[in-house]
Amino acid sequence: MAAELMDGVAVARAVREDVARGVADLVARGVTPGLAVVLVGEDPASTVYVRNKGKACEEAGMRSVTIRMPATTSQGELLAQVDALNADPAIHGILVQMPLPPQCSADEVIRRIDPAKDVDGFHPVNAGRLLIGDPDGFAPCTPAGVMELLRRYDVPTKGAEVVVIGRSNIVGKPMGALMIQPGVDATVTTCHSRTRDLAGHARRADILVAAIGRARFVTADMVKPGATVIDVGINRVEEPRSKTGYVLAGDVDFAAVREVAGRITPVPGGVGPLTIAMLLKNTLRAASRVAP
Ligand code: NAD
Repeated sequence: MAAELMDGVAVARAVREDVARGVADLVARGVTPGLAVVLVGEDPASTVYVRNKGKACEEAGMRSVTIRMPATTSQGELLAQVDALNADPAIHGILVQMPLPPQCSADEVIRRIDPAKDVDGFHPVNAGRLLIGDPDGFAPCTPAGVMELLRRYDVPTKGAEVVVIGRSNIVGKPMGALMIQPGVDATVTTCHSRTRDLAGHARRADILVAAIGRARFVTADMVKPGATVIDVGINRVEEPRSKTGYVLAGDVDFAAVREVAGRITPVPGGVGPLTIAMLLKNTLRAASRVAP
């Protein structure tokens, strides 16, 4: 039997509606949550993400500010912009869209953002808070979105075997950290490009999270029957018959794996929409802290 589809669009909508209610409460108390997104250069994918973030913010009743800086922006100019946003009381969340041009250091820029405004959850202070289970921190939006999806679909996590493929700072590592939090209580294995017998690990998973960046990498023989399969990957695959010349594919071979899995996220429409919803949720939390 084909797996149940986990509808990220519907879950994201529900999260955004919750956020909009929270925003309305804050506005009534005199605080309009504000998110600033800094875009350096004109990377086409980034431009689309930034536009979508701005739109989602406004739909939730938040103030959205997009700061566009030329691709020639120096590190000093970018840091000065971050400093200005850190000091601006109308801005509660700051996001610097990656990738940055080569003359700018992402690490240094992330470290410059006030951790209280770091709604992307990438600052080392927030990474540390996530590890020690400090609820004042911000978790990175994509793995936080996966947790939201699991909660809303009542996927049991207590004592579950979770296998995460990928160890990036923005998805794989924080995903593992979230899964072992008390209350979630999963047992986590993190796999990566040097893992021996990846398929053997993956086949033990009750919940398999793929965050690899390689189209259709997870095949049906890597999945335990009935497992929940979460596909974080977004990859462009050439497809001459498509108008754009490409299609989007996840890290999971969706057509084959859905015949084995118990639940599965599609791409697009699975994890992707949750990322922006969790960004709004983090921004609302950041603004709530300064509200009277
Ligand atoms: P990354 O390149 O930083 O990390 C990829 C990870 O995959 C690495 O840790 C690497 O060890 C592992 N890996 C690579 N090849 C492997 C192999 N052969 N076997 C096992 N592990 C292997 O990527 P990322 O930033 O974590 O993103 C992963 C995917 O998720 C990408 O497709 C990206 O586009 C997507 N993504 C989606 C969202 C979203 O839905 N909003 C957000 C972030 C990333």
